[in-house]
Amino acid sequence: ENLLFAKALPIIAEIKKAGYEVYFVGGCVRDALLNKEINDVDLATSAFPAEIKAIFPKTIDVGIEHGTVMVLRNDETYEVTTFRTESTYQDFRRPDQVIFVRSLKEDLKRRDFTVNALAMTEDGEIIDYFGGVKDLTNGLIKAVGSPRERFFEDALRMMRGVRFVSQLDFSMDSETKKAIFLHRALLEKIAIERIQVEFMKLLLGEGRQKGLNLFVESELYSYCPGLAEYQKELTYFSTLKNKQNHKLLSSLAAWTLLLFILGKQEEDVDSFLRAWKCSKKMIQQVKVALRALTLRVKQPLDKLLLYQSGYAIILEVEELLTFLDKPADLTRLEELTNRLPMKDKKEMAVSGFDLLAYFNKKPGKWLGSALDKIEIGIVLGEITNEKEAILNWLSETNEIKKEDF
Ligand code: ATP
Ligand code: MG
Repeated sequence: ENLLFAKALPIIAEIKKAGYEVYFVGGCVRDALLNKEINDVDLATSAFPAEIKAIFPKTIDVGIEHGTVMVLRNDETYEVTTFRTESTYQDFRRPDQVIFVRSLKEDLKRRDFTVNALAMTEDGEIIDYFGGVKDLTNGLIKAVGSPRERFFEDALRMMRGVRFVSQLDFSMDSETKKAIFLHRALLEKIAIERIQVEFMKLLLGEGRQKGLNLFVESELYSYCPGLAEYQKELTYFSTLKNKQNHKLLSSLAAWTLLLFILGKQEEDVDSFLRAWKCSKKMIQQVKVALRALTLRVKQPLDKLLLYQSGYAIILEVEELLTFLDKPADLTRLEELTNRLPMKDKKEMAVSGFDLLAYFNKKPGKWLGSALDKIEIGIVLGEITNEKEAILNWLSETNEIKKEDF
């Protein structure tokens, strides 16, 4: 049995002793039945938040308005959520109000897909009101109840559906698929940050090809930032795989490959990823990786590209090459990494101050360009990274002569 489930047993026992129902619910039940690794277990209970707080001496209100209380016990934390229904969705996103209820079935009914609407008792008995076990067996993502109503209530569920197709490598039930096509434009009502989370899980899923194909077929893509004009490219992207049929390994890898397939350049990255609400750090890394990938499809890895991009990014870029039917050259990566005279500008043996003193000249544009030349010279092995050697090189080279200044 899974350790995470076992750890929750004492909590379950206490809630039951107080006279309430409590079950494992949602993704953990689904993943356990699929024999997949479980990230976290969610507990749902008939006890109201105040009643949970009365049972346990230490709790934190993490999402009390949604009915979630965090229970602290023996250095462990457990999230316990009261059964609830959500009603009157007026803006196609969050429910106007959450109503706590005593019925498990009511709680499961408001969940998005049948495979996510399963509950499990502490003995491992599965409670399945909506045919979730059958759909799990058949590998089917199917809305609970009327798919049209469910997507009209909350348009994010359409992206979630496509994401689960990818994550679980499932297919989508045909009525559910039709409902997405019908309501696809409602995606515009949803915050980009939330769409981005689902889009990334879609790109990183085992069934990326199926998920992306559905993303294109359902035309959800045309309501996502910067993608509307790229049906052809996205369709091509959905066919990409490497020989080992690997998943994409990181958001950085996913964005980089996507932008490459869309034919984007380094200078397009900023506005594209800003529209997706990506972090500054992510944007910076994708720029570097996209530049490196664009060069690497045309030429072997060299010291300067490795130095400018950094080992970690080149490692991801080498893996990405295999999705483009090009070989990764990890041997060369290791060899060049070992031979690289320095990994970072900070390791340079001279500073701007050294040059100012040496040339006895006011700072200006010359200083930055001299430092850049020295940096490249060191990386390429043309200059030894020692102060004296660098200053000698400076006085000998035609590029920067003392008398020029
Ligand atoms: P993951 O493995 O990605 O965490 P998950 O199924 O646990 O998958 P969560 O987003 O963590 O997904 O949501 C937990 C559960 O809450 C889901 O299994 C589902 O039952 C329910 N749920 C989440 N979001 C929605 C939604 N927008 N509409 C209806 N039910 C939802
Ligand atoms: Mg989860």
